[in-house]
Amino acid sequence: MDHPRFVISAAEAESMANLSGLSVPQLLPTLVKSAQTLARPPTSNYPVAAVGLSSDGRIFIGVNLEFPGVPLHHSVHAEQFLVTNHAFHNSPRLVYIAVSSAPCGHCRQFLQELRQPGDIQIFITSQNDVIYKPLLSLLPNPFGPFDLLDQQTPLILESHNNNLSLVENKFLANGVAQDFEKLKSLALEAAIASHAAYSHCPSGVALMDVHGKFYKGCYMESAAYNPSLGPVQAALVAFVASGGGGYDELVAAVVVEKEEAVVRQEDTARLLLKMVSPNCDFRVYHCCSSVNGCV
Ligand SMILES: [Zn+2]
Repeated sequence: MDHPRFVISAAEAESMANLSGLSVPQLLPTLVKSAQTLARPPTSNYPVAAVGLSSDGRIFIGVNLEFPGVPLHHSVHAEQFLVTNHAFHNSPRLVYIAVSSAPCGHCRQFLQELRQPGDIQIFITSQNDVIYKPLLSLLPNPFGPFDLLDQQTPLILESHNNNLSLVENKFLANGVAQDFEKLKSLALEAAIASHAAYSHCPSGVALMDVHGKFYKGCYMESAAYNPSLGPVQAALVAFVASGGGGYDELVAAVVVEKEEAVVRQEDTARLLLKMVSPNCDFRVYHCCSSVNGCV
């Protein structure tokens, strides 16, 4: 793969595998090295790539993102990027992952947030035993969503509808009203699709860059809480995965969350964006459950 991309269509994946005399799962490890060039790890200088195969035949790529000046726990791990990339593209299931280094404990736990995670097959290209192993063998006796939720609760990669509407807000700046209307609408869409099954505080972020392109990201919670991925990180994944340039190209951002949320994203999102794109115009809009009616 001369020019690595973040999504490869099923037809192209099949064709690439055929040309190499491999099956598509066998193709994944061969894509890892070039995918590592897409990573952005300015703190560790340790690029990680995770190449995943969807049940619909598409290949998705994830890489690690570290943000200068921001505490390390706000970083995005390659497997989290991969899952977020799958979610953006409505991939039904993640079935195979080839990754450049053994998934850390944080990522093994984050992957528990998918349906039947133990069946996901993992190939670690830096290790000698060149076979796929089920995630269950890497994380036996896991703690997961169904320790806290019932089996019917939708998980990451499953359809969510959090039934949210925006609370009316009169605050709009001169000349940018139209862009902020679009950002509000996208951030609300992301909040509606957010996986916030534990806190019931769904949230979404939308970003706009200097070229007028928009990106959105959903907050995704983990049953173990700490591996949860904030909506601003998810939106930054969308920015990077869509070919975005430097973070300082981001000029406007909106977070949408419930005003009374006990888990709030506003300050974290503000901090992270301030560090990576100091001139980004950042705003917060509140939403409420549509079923109760907004005031
Ligand atoms: Zn990790």
